[in-house]
Amino acid sequence: MQALQPKVILGVAAHPDDLDFGMSGSIARWVNEGATAYYLILTNGNKGSEDRTLKPKQLREIRRQEQRAAAKILGVSEVFFCDYNDGELDCCKPVKNDIAKIIRQIKPDVVMTMDPTMVYDAPRGFINHPDHRAAGQATLDAVYPLARDHLAFPELLKKGLEPHKVGTVLLVNFDHSNFAVDISEVIETKLRALGAHESQFAHKQQTLDLVRDINKQSGSKLKVAYAEEFVRIDIQ
Ligand SMILES: [Zn+2]
Repeated sequence: MQALQPKVILGVAAHPDDLDFGMSGSIARWVNEGATAYYLILTNGNKGSEDRTLKPKQLREIRRQEQRAAAKILGVSEVFFCDYNDGELDCCKPVKNDIAKIIRQIKPDVVMTMDPTMVYDAPRGFINHPDHRAAGQATLDAVYPLARDHLAFPELLKKGLEPHKVGTVLLVNFDHSNFAVDISEVIETKLRALGAHESQFAHKQQTLDLVRDINKQSGSKLKVAYAEEFVRIDIQ
């Protein structure tokens, strides 16, 4: 598989913090190497708290601020926010339209998101959040064919948003991968960015240590200190 040197990256996720867990090391590295990166966060994250004193509206603002702070640490140029309710994201036409619109606007050569085929993991005992699956599937659908075909979403073309062909999709899937990125030089930046999502941690250090450990295990396969792993699809 050829080396990957993205010029424009778009990360698409359901919630503020999703991208910073699985792919922000690669993004930080590529930004350091000259790439321009953007985030698109589809839900407002307004349910992601165990704090019963917080109103959904307050949480929405807190989480946006945290995501902007994390993006700044990583060198992400801009964070686009949609306002779908947390926990209610569907892979539907309006969501696909929103993603296709941003793809046509910023013209990324690499799009990163979560693998929608990851439904559950019995050995680890977790069910993947339905918003993550919806975000991943809607992103794949937006990349191909909706952002690419001029007849899809004609209202975008009317706004001057020409079709765009994405070159590569990178999916985060904790079970398997066919591609890894050495993030050894930016692991501390990644963990600082992840740490910016203060509202999301019951045990912050424990979570950061766990992510460091996952990236260390991925690194050992590449014989480097830290890495992130992806399913890579080069679109023909
Ligand atoms: Zn999430």
